[in-house]
Amino acid sequence: MDSWFTVEKIDNETYVISEYKHWEETHCYLLIGIDKCLLIDTGLGVGNLLEVINRLTDLPVEVVVTHVHWDHIGGLKYFKNIAVHDAEKEWLTNEFPIPIQLVIKNLIREPCDFPTYFNKDNYEIFKGQPTAILQDNDIIDLENRKIEIIHTPGHSPGHICLYEPDKKYLYSGDLIYMGKLDAFYPTTNPYEFMKSIDKIRRLAIERIFPAHYSLSINVEIIENIDKAFKDLFYSGKLAHGNGIFYFENFSIHI
Ligand SMILES: [Zn+2]
Ligand SMILES: [Zn+2]
Repeated sequence: MDSWFTVEKIDNETYVISEYKHWEETHCYLLIGIDKCLLIDTGLGVGNLLEVINRLTDLPVEVVVTHVHWDHIGGLKYFKNIAVHDAEKEWLTNEFPIPIQLVIKNLIREPCDFPTYFNKDNYEIFKGQPTAILQDNDIIDLENRKIEIIHTPGHSPGHICLYEPDKKYLYSGDLIYMGKLDAFYPTTNPYEFMKSIDKIRRLAIERIFPAHYSLSINVEIIENIDKAFKDLFYSGKLAHGNGIFYFENFSIHI
């Protein structure tokens, strides 16, 4: 197994594949179905994700990306079936909004023990044709489990969370995690971010599976982030350029 990744079993049919060696600590999730499985996000594209997936399942894999940011689409190069929200399909096929130099700068921002076969000078941002376009309320049917697509713009225009009602799992992407929530660059929208949190808090959720940082994340964080955004909004501070606001186990960069 590629030692770049850490694999943990969440339950009998769900795995998390993490990149803890990198400062971004990304997480991808593999949901095992009956005839196929679903991979949520693909990480940085630094290690060989396909090799990891092949050891966990021999079912066909469909990939959904929570949004088209470089740290979620890195492993798309290994897969054929790729689903993305309508609002970000162009970022996959045409123009990724961040220049490659900036992406590489971010990738190597902190000292990191990259795999020996990885060469930053050959790093490329995935470009390709999605095979499915997602909309709010779409259902991905794995027969034994149904996964709902929830459009949650703000961090990016086509950001989605995935919700599994039977297990009360929320795969929250970059909308909810224990770290700095980013809504400060031009393609973000702090107001939409606030509305997306408000949409999510109405769901019955028992476990949150974020795309970054600690997996020991308590569902109460949803209420706390909701309150933080609304406090910023009602005090007139929820606008680009106002900086970073710190809270107990997260911060908001607008
Ligand atoms: Zn992102
Ligand atoms: Zn991310």
